[in-house]
Amino acid sequence: MQMQLDQSRKMEAVGSLASGVAHDFNNALQSISGYVEMLYAEDLDKPKQREKLDQIGEVVGRAAELVRRLLTFSRKVEVELVPLDLNNEITESVKTLSRIIPKMITIEQRLSPKLKNISGDRVQIEQILMNLGVNAKDAMPNGGILTIETRGITLGSVRNNGRPGLKPGEYILLKVSDTGMGMDQKTINRIFEPFFTTKGPGQGTGLGLATVYGIVKSHKGDISCHSEPGRGTSFNIYLPACDQVQKVKKNTQFIDAELMG
Ligand code: ADP
Repeated sequence: MQMQLDQSRKMEAVGSLASGVAHDFNNALQSISGYVEMLYAEDLDKPKQREKLDQIGEVVGRAAELVRRLLTFSRKVEVELVPLDLNNEITESVKTLSRIIPKMITIEQRLSPKLKNISGDRVQIEQILMNLGVNAKDAMPNGGILTIETRGITLGSVRNNGRPGLKPGEYILLKVSDTGMGMDQKTINRIFEPFFTTKGPGQGTGLGLATVYGIVKSHKGDISCHSEPGRGTSFNIYLPACDQVQKVKKNTQFIDAELMG
């Protein structure tokens, strides 16, 4: 509980800092981009100058991506919650992931049929899948299996196998696991912290999982991580099923956590 409070306070502080910085930074980037476009239009024929311009363009692109991540992270992007079939979103994201992920990694989808809809933001749900997928890829440099699973689940009260922080009711469990390098407990304790990364400079921003955490919380869900060094990692994400509110009203006594199929 204490860890959760610290985490949200920290996220709030970094979030408001990030949104201020990101706004000004983005304006600056846009004018740099404008100048780059103008220089391109002047038809430079010296190859070295063109090379430099390409580099500027690349750096601007990377910085813009960072801003995009900061904005998503600080949740200042517009969120549109609509009924979504999570299985469809997974199938779509896997198409994108399979272009990024090397062939020696197998992507397995175990999607429960007849899954209830979630109420979600399509772009953000895709972001969750992409961030977890890319981390799984990084954790399996010698290949392995990335498994994406869904199933419906009914959570009881905390006393009856529920999860702290989640109301009793119907949820969709999204499980993303890999057979990669795993993590020790010290690392697990810090993974959702903004800017925490064990990847080298220029390799990781440390915003991937903090963003995932923020998105899951803004969807009134919960996330947990299980990992063992050398054996792999799995993330369990609980997202409320679309019609949960009605269901909870009708039946407030949930006895046990049980699978819905
Ligand atoms: P980044 O990927 O930029 O480092 P993240 O917030 O996505 O930032 O992840 C933070 C850290 O959590 C990573 O640097 C890595 O140490 C650890 N991590 C995340 N996902 C995995 C995974 N699937 N397997 C092993 N370690 C992971």
